[in-house]
Amino acid sequence: MFGSLKLGKLFGIDLFVHGTFWLLPLYVFLNNLSGGVAAAGLDVAVIFAVFACVALHEVGHAVAARGYGIPTRDITLTPLGGIARLERMPEKPLQEIVVALAGPLVNVAIALSITAVMPAATVGRIAEAAANGGYFTVLDPASEFVFRVWGANVFLVLFNLLPAFPMDGGRVLRALLGTMTNRVQATRIAVGVSGVLAVLFFLVGFEQSSLTLMLIAPFIFMLGRAELAAVRAQAARREWRRAATEFAQTLFGPPPADRFSGWRWDADRRVWSEWVNGVLVREVRDV
Ligand SMILES: [Zn+2]
Repeated sequence: MFGSLKLGKLFGIDLFVHGTFWLLPLYVFLNNLSGGVAAAGLDVAVIFAVFACVALHEVGHAVAARGYGIPTRDITLTPLGGIARLERMPEKPLQEIVVALAGPLVNVAIALSITAVMPAATVGRIAEAAANGGYFTVLDPASEFVFRVWGANVFLVLFNLLPAFPMDGGRVLRALLGTMTNRVQATRIAVGVSGVLAVLFFLVGFEQSSLTLMLIAPFIFMLGRAELAAVRAQAARREWRRAATEFAQTLFGPPPADRFSGWRWDADRRVWSEWVNGVLVREVRDV
């Protein structure tokens, strides 16, 4: 019942909608029906438009990753947001920052585009709302729809830039720390910051009686721990491989790869190199 439905391809990447996603528009529609079918329908239309923006956000990550030769298996929309399954995360700090920021940047572009085409009257109402602490007189349905999709994109930018895992800001923080220390240590500090933010979310949620905020806290806390565990396991695997190679070399001497003949592929530089008896003969750039 809760399988994923394939919607199609975006920029060559399969886009799926998880079965549980449909519970969200259904819940919103039934929950807001007291305001009339038209109002509830508008709420549902906003949900679909916002999730289209979430899908484009994920495409932003995927396209940036592709620029570094990292393919994306697929993008899935869930009621909690979108997930782009990259084959791997780039580990070079600059690459990780670019891939992490590419998602929110898409929402910045969408919000700016909406602002550019927004009727002057709507812009006036938004300014009025900002002055009144977020409350404004009800707009006509079309302006209301545009305004709410715009607001959701602004929210997506701000929320995703929070420096906590699994948000994009957590990756940016880890990558920035990664320029000063190793990846495990950088992740440990970033996960510590995530923990502090999780506690803040919980306290603010408790104070405001917001169940959503209180539920986000354990979510951030657990996914931060999971990220740290994954990075540690990867580092341990590499260390084991390095030690095993070193041990093999003390037993059997240098590996025959030193006298390697044939072609090698360098994924980072996207270059093929030809070797004869361990000597580099030529390099061919992939086009
Ligand atoms: Zn993102």
